[in-house]
Amino acid sequence: MATEDVIIACEAGLGQTESGNMRLLAVGSALANHWGGRLICLLAGDGAEEKAEEISPYVHELRIGDFAGEAYNSTNHFRAVRTLAGEVEPGAVLFAHTFLGMDLAPRIAAMLGVGAAANCLSLEPEGDGVQAVRPMYRGRLLARIQIERRPVVATLQGARADAPPVIGPGALSTLSVEPDPHPKVRFVRRIDPVKTGVDIAKAQIIVSGGRGMGERENFELVENLAQALGGVAACSRPLVDMGWFETDRQVGMSGNSVKPKLYVACGISGALEHLHGMRDSDLIVAINTDAEAPIFEVAQLGMVGDVMDVLPPLIEAAKGKK
Ligand code: FAD
Repeated sequence: MATEDVIIACEAGLGQTESGNMRLLAVGSALANHWGGRLICLLAGDGAEEKAEEISPYVHELRIGDFAGEAYNSTNHFRAVRTLAGEVEPGAVLFAHTFLGMDLAPRIAAMLGVGAAANCLSLEPEGDGVQAVRPMYRGRLLARIQIERRPVVATLQGARADAPPVIGPGALSTLSVEPDPHPKVRFVRRIDPVKTGVDIAKAQIIVSGGRGMGERENFELVENLAQALGGVAACSRPLVDMGWFETDRQVGMSGNSVKPKLYVACGISGALEHLHGMRDSDLIVAINTDAEAPIFEVAQLGMVGDVMDVLPPLIEAAKGKK
């Protein structure tokens, strides 16, 4: 089999997902190693230079997109990936399963005349091709798909990954892209993500509250238990939708993937979209009034009861242990 390079589009700047980059490095590195090729990272956008320093040890080559002085936009980013793919003729072009990856991957796949495998949980070499595992029907099924055509274009979920091997420092260079003279997409304004300074993706202990907490003021119980256990408080999506919290506290498919040592779910039903972001936690404890709630299917410890009754003694017990 001919050697084949792998391109990974890591993310820089606001809104980047650290776990997404790590996953790209780990999976990209394994594929490039198997194919005897190089791992080439493309970075574009704000903060690309700083991010390059972090990523350099894990790649053979690092290219930073330069848009001839134009501010970042996804059309230019697409053109940068396209240019690099034209230069390298890679065996795979991989993106994180983020808003950026979901935007770029199908466009690149269409341009290259191949399909895109979105939201892959894993991607491994198998025979002459690549085998991917991806959720279907909102996570009810996991499909194993064999991809034979090259280049493989895929987006990868950013669950916590093992540290990628050190193969760098990667050779750093600029990738100049002529801005599109007739862009179909126009930059209107940038909405920066709100950062509250808590990165739940890195937390070892998470106490998470859902709609079953009832009122906003009851959420104090979740925060108190998190504090007593030395962890952080997080939530399900409805609490973000209600404006109680910013998305950086949200666990799940459209929020953050977490893998703490302990995840305490308080008044959370266990919808597939929520489970998607926390089911790999080492120990899951669930408190719910409904004994049939799906959260109990993934929990190792379950308490059928009202959070208002269960949480206060738990908080006291946790404080006592401390
Ligand atoms: P509910 O489903 O309403 O559950 C509340 C639970 O609390 C119930 O099980 C109830 O029995 C229990 N309860 C009620 N009162 C008490 C009490 N006093 N004590 C104890 N238990 C009590 N959701 C996410 O969380 N994260 C995501 O990232 C996400 N992304 C999504 C993406 C898409 C495209 C879509 C369509 C949906 C997404 N959702 C996400 C929403 C998801 O489908 C569920 O609606 C959501 O997870 C439900 O949140 P919940 O468990 O807090 O609320």
